[in-house]
Amino acid sequence: MNIRTQLTFRYIGIVLLVLLAMYFYLATMLKDSMSSHITSDLEVQAELIREFLIEELPTKDNFTYDLIDSLVDRLGKANNARVTFIDLDGVVWGDTERDGQALREMDNHLTRPEVQDAIKNGSGIRERYSNTTQTGFRYFALPIHRNVGPEISPDGEGTLIGICRVALPMVAVNTAIGNLRRVVLIASVAGLILAIVFSVFSTGAITKPIKKLTQMTQSLAAGNINSRVPVDSRNELGQLSQNFNLMANRIQEQIDKISEEHRRSETILKNMGEGVLLVNGASEMTYANPAAISMLELPDTYIGKALIEINRIPELQVLLKKAEQTEAIAFAEIQLGNLREPEAEVTVVPVSAGQEYVIVIHDVTKERQLERIRADFVANVSHELRTPLTTIQGYAETLLGENSVRTKTSEQFIVKIFNHSTRLTRLVSDLLELSRLELGEVELKRSLCHLNTFHEPILDVFEPLLEESGLVLKWEIPETLPKVNIDRQLYMQIFVNLIDNAIKYTPDGGAITVSAETRSHEETEGSDIASEEFILSVKDTGIGIPMESQPRVFERFYRVDEGRAREMGGTGLGLAIVKHIVLCHNGRIWIESTLGQGSTFYVAVPL
Ligand code: ADP
Repeated sequence: MNIRTQLTFRYIGIVLLVLLAMYFYLATMLKDSMSSHITSDLEVQAELIREFLIEELPTKDNFTYDLIDSLVDRLGKANNARVTFIDLDGVVWGDTERDGQALREMDNHLTRPEVQDAIKNGSGIRERYSNTTQTGFRYFALPIHRNVGPEISPDGEGTLIGICRVALPMVAVNTAIGNLRRVVLIASVAGLILAIVFSVFSTGAITKPIKKLTQMTQSLAAGNINSRVPVDSRNELGQLSQNFNLMANRIQEQIDKISEEHRRSETILKNMGEGVLLVNGASEMTYANPAAISMLELPDTYIGKALIEINRIPELQVLLKKAEQTEAIAFAEIQLGNLREPEAEVTVVPVSAGQEYVIVIHDVTKERQLERIRADFVANVSHELRTPLTTIQGYAETLLGENSVRTKTSEQFIVKIFNHSTRLTRLVSDLLELSRLELGEVELKRSLCHLNTFHEPILDVFEPLLEESGLVLKWEIPETLPKVNIDRQLYMQIFVNLIDNAIKYTPDGGAITVSAETRSHEETEGSDIASEEFILSVKDTGIGIPMESQPRVFERFYRVDEGRAREMGGTGLGLAIVKHIVLCHNGRIWIESTLGQGSTFYVAVPL
């Protein structure tokens, strides 16, 4: 049953109830008021008739049927009612409904209740079916007192001579009440018909906008975002329609915005150099931008296929597995082609709690080529420069060693040539070393050795310098530590560069502490795969490195204080070389430093 029918039935039900109640109330009320109206009419008429009879009646001895009946008939006619006169013995002397013989044959009326009430109580009223007239009547009886001769009744009213009775036929009363009832009934039925018509129209007015709203929401749900409802009124339904339209507008705006953003990201994804892949929780591909399609040479039907099915690069699978297991970003350099170097930087980012993974592939082929060209160039230049520089340095040294007579100026020049050529030779050999490390030309000659075996060679190198600077070197590597599998020569370079820096940047009277320990290291955050690391630390009480420079000191030629570093004779490549050697050992390097208090360099290699 739809809402309109429901409302209509409810309306009609309510109206019906009200009309029924009204009908019964009115009918009863009207009947009562009519009845009391008739009674009071009867009373008035009876009173008048009594007065008349008191005056007109002859004495008891002169009573004749004809005389009294004609008197009563006149009274009945005048009052349009049935009038009866009964004497104290119950004999009916006059009645408007009976004449002649019929009157004389009438029953004794003394036992009639209204007559008895009139004698006893002064008046009597009754409603009854009359055998005499064969109809229902309402009777009202009053006693008639009269002073007869000198005889005065004790109450002053006179002597009771008879009873006059006035009656109205109930047919008239009932017809009047019936007529009234009919009028009320007709009014109720008319009201009901009106109510039905009204309810049909008014419920229609209510349900029409609801119907339109329903149609609109259905249309919206079906995807027709342009559908709107007409707003015809200002009531709650009108407001509801307006709100629906507003909501639809908002939805349209949001959809437009999302479509715009989608278009934008689509354009970005299509035109970006990086390859972007989307893989679901089951490692099936859901999206690949054109760059990714060309980098991984994906077929047209890649969507829904497992990554492993389409692409056979094992490192990519390993990286995806890693991101799946750790639920964290995984990064690796992966070789996409057949070249020796890793050709792409790949990042796997888990999205929506492992439901999806974004794989971003950054092709670094060109960068790597350029880096190789640069490293090659530097290596070649350094190599070419080394021989003439060594020659210049050698000649200058020979000249300085000669005991020949020289002017002061030429002596100064030779010293300058020697110093600068020494610095240049150092720079060139550092550059060459760095290039070889970068190009991967250095082959690690690993052997197991205890770090304490470096103590003596280090002292040999730095003892004079330490004495000169008034510094102490504290060697605190415990004998109990295990041996490490390293390239001795390259590791010596780490020691030399770090201790050399510590000496350079620590003022007189300071201390340099070399120590080591083993520690377990969590390979990746959140992973429970832990590995043992061997950590070497070189700590000084020197000038320290400002926070902002700490990440940069491992870049080539980066210096915190350019002038001071140059004065110290540094090349700016020391830490870059250390970093590359550490990377060759699959290790990591980091600093802890407080400005003015000192720095600690940590070198960790896996055990
Ligand atoms: P350099 O040859 O100039 O010392 P490095 O690569 O060895 O070059 O170091 C880079 C820079 O890092 C230095 O110029 C210096 O500013 C800073 N540095 C390195 N070691 C220390 C240290 N122990 N204390 C303070 N600063 C240091």
